Amino acid sequence: MSIPHLRFAPSPNGRLHLGHAYSAFLNAAIAERLGGRLSLRIEDIDPVRSRPDLIAAIESDLAWLGIAFTGPVRRQSRHLADYAAARDRLAARGLAYPCFCSRGQIRAAAAADPPCDPDGVPHYPGTCRSLSPAEARARIARGEPHTWRLDMARALAEVPAAQAYTAFDPEDGERTVPVDPARWGDAVIARRDVPTSYHLAVVHDDAAQGITHVVRGRDLEAATDLHVLLQRLLGLPSPRYHHHVLILDPAGEKLAKSRGSASLADLRAAGATPEALRTRLREMSGFRKG
Ligand code: GLU
Repeated sequence: MSIPHLRFAPSPNGRLHLGHAYSAFLNAAIAERLGGRLSLRIEDIDPVRSRPDLIAAIESDLAWLGIAFTGPVRRQSRHLADYAAARDRLAARGLAYPCFCSRGQIRAAAAADPPCDPDGVPHYPGTCRSLSPAEARARIARGEPHTWRLDMARALAEVPAAQAYTAFDPEDGERTVPVDPARWGDAVIARRDVPTSYHLAVVHDDAAQGITHVVRGRDLEAATDLHVLLQRLLGLPSPRYHHHVLILDPAGEKLAKSRGSASLADLRAAGATPEALRTRLREMSGFRKG
């Protein structure tokens, strides 16, 4: 078996907070326990929200925490052509289609009580799914802005019915988790401004980097259903997954800059040490590994 390979994959949209520190510590602890490697991946596909100063700040916060990474840092913004190629492969097989709808048009076309995806976004009503290839090509040639959506029904028809992934728990071993990607509807796999979405880039990169174990928060657990489907469609292996508890603020909400959660930089400026943070996180996570 190959050496276990984990990754910590923050998006440089803001400073790191305690939730990131927990995830990074847990990744490092599990990598060590498995005798594996841990890589840093910067998920900077968003051309507006990703800022170079934030990437430098992330690297400095992680160094301060004492997290050791192996190998080069992967920056997703440097691999856009690879994601575009994966998108095009899906489109060429009729599994993805361009969607020219604005948010308003999607709202207007939606049924009265549309099904929602796990993030609470109503399923796409399917307006552009039936455009003829000639019309879609002409609209793209005219420069009309468009996303690319997975044709969920066709995608599901391409893969054997019962799909699952292996979840691992550092304390409790492994279990098989069935997936239900249909709950995402015709998900966006490539945005208007970049030829990928979070989902496509993460699936591509986990395979390209040979990631064997993904350790990330429970907020991404439902997305794994879609990731497994994309892996099957693209002929990529599935890593094992561990979705850890989320570090919540005193009001029980997810930490976020928008809610005024302290960043690691704030805590550091207030005199916190990495050791103190580690102890605090152990308490906040209920003394559990994940
Ligand atoms: N970039 C994502 C985030 O910051 C994490 C992606 C992942 O671990 O799959 O939430």
